[in-house]
This record gives sequence, C-alpha cells and structure tokens, in this order.
Amino acid sequence: MTLSGLVGNTFLEKGSPATVLYAAEPGVVYVVDPGQGEDRPRALRRDLERLSARKVMVLVTHYHSDHLQALGDLTVDEVAMSKADAPVARNPELRVVMTFGYPVNPEDSLLAFHGPPIRVDVEVEGDSYGPLKLVRLPGHTDGQLGVITPDGVLYAADSIFGDRVLEKYGVPYHRMPCAAEASLKTIEGLEGRAEIIVPSHGPVLKASEAGPMIEANIRRIEEAGEVVAEAASRGSSLSDIVSALLNRFKYSQLAPDVVMLLEATVKGYIRCMRDEGSLDVEVGPSGLVFRSRRAASP
Ligand SMILES: [Zn+2]
Repeated sequence: MTLSGLVGNTFLEKGSPATVLYAAEPGVVYVVDPGQGEDRPRALRRDLERLSARKVMVLVTHYHSDHLQALGDLTVDEVAMSKADAPVARNPELRVVMTFGYPVNPEDSLLAFHGPPIRVDVEVEGDSYGPLKLVRLPGHTDGQLGVITPDGVLYAADSIFGDRVLEKYGVPYHRMPCAAEASLKTIEGLEGRAEIIVPSHGPVLKASEAGPMIEANIRRIEEAGEVVAEAASRGSSLSDIVSALLNRFKYSQLAPDVVMLLEATVKGYIRCMRDEGSLDVEVGPSGLVFRSRRAASP
C-alpha cells in the first residue's frame, strides 16, 4: 500500500476501506477512516511521516470495525465521530449488536473483523470538522458521515459501493435501506461541491461520472425492497424473506457473518415498511409473520 496524491493536499491510502488524508496547515493532518488490516497502521504511520504530521486528527465516518480497527495501533491527537455513532464505536459489544442484530462476542471467530474499543474525543454535531465539510449520509448506520476536503474530494464512506461489492454481497448492508436510498440522492445533489468521489469500498470516481454507480446502488436497494415486499405479500417469516433474497441475488460469499448482515438488512427493510405503514406483523405457529399490505402476485 502506498500513499497517492488525489488533488491538492488530499491523499489516498488505497484499501478496503480506503483512507483519505488531508494535509491542512503545516504539520496538521486529518485522517478519514483509518481502516483495517495488519499492514494498515504501519502504512498510515509512514504516510503521516511523509506528510510531516505533528498533529493527527481522525474522523471516523461510522462505527463499523473495518473502518476503525487500525486506530487501535495508532497514536493520534483527536478522534471525532457523529454524535449518533460515537457511543456505538466506543463499545464493541454495542457495535456487534447494532451491526449484526445478534449479541455475538466481539472476539468470536464468526466475525471477519474484530475492532478494539476506541476513544472518541469529539462528537460532531455541526457540518464541519476543522477544514473538512461533513455531509450526513444516514442509512448504512444512523450517524454515518461523508467528508468533503477543501480540494473537493468527497469520501462517501459506505453510502455507495462499487460493482464488485454489489456483486459479491448481493444486497448491500444498510441498517435503514430507505434512509440509505435518500443518502444516495443527497450525493447526487452535491453537484459542484465535490469533484472526486471516494467510496470506502470501490473505485475512485470523478463526480461527473458517478451517475451510473449511484443509480446501480439505488436500483439494488429498490430491487431488494421489491423482493422483501413480494415475499411478505404471502405472509413470511424472517428466514422466508432471507431465502427469497438469497435466491434472487448472486452471493459469492456466504459466511455466517454475511448472512447475519443480510438478516439485519431485512430487519431494516421491515423497519422502513413499518414506518411507511405498509407492513403488518403477526404471530404464526412458528413465530413472527410479516405481511405486506399489497396483493401477492399470482
Ligand atoms: Zn460500514
């Protein structure tokens, strides 16, 4: 992994998730999403040295372990997060429940990532953090933030995924898919405020060419929503709905934690449908039955 210049004082450390660094006034470097991986802390230390950082300010876009794991092995001056996500980031037990919907041990080998508890010094409520402009992109988590550097680079976090991620995971993970769809429209509306878009997991894009990727993400959220509503039109259990999604979308990876994420996303669709008044919940002989208020197709 190497540091590459994106534009002006904005730099990229590639990876999944990618990390964006912004060299502000001399000696002050902002790091957006330190990320994960055995090599990442060393790579970031090297990057910070190259940028002559004396002060390191970190903005974590949301509480998922893969975005903050490297923080456990870095010395930084300040860590900032949204007010909504900060409490979850501090506590791995909460993080696991909020992400997967199961009280899994955060160290359990079922999980791909094991993030440390982290300290959050600043809970940001406004629309900036130092020179960085913040964009609220809820859906993937409730408090997810996008970041725009003064050079016009938008770090879009997990509000938008590249084709390979959509292909691999079928239904992208969102805690509230309806909010995630609205956030994709927020990104579409940023025209002129960002020249470059950096998804956490996906290729760096010119904002002027991001339309198809944004549309692919919106379409996938809507298609999965259709499958959920169609399955629920017959009165379905959670596992019936999950099975309908597994049949409809190609999954190349089906580890237990991936299916937990899918279940959690289905619960997110259930939440969205309850909020819009289009879903009834009943009790059947084998547990909860979800029934959407639309006619089952023949
Ligand atoms: Zn995430």
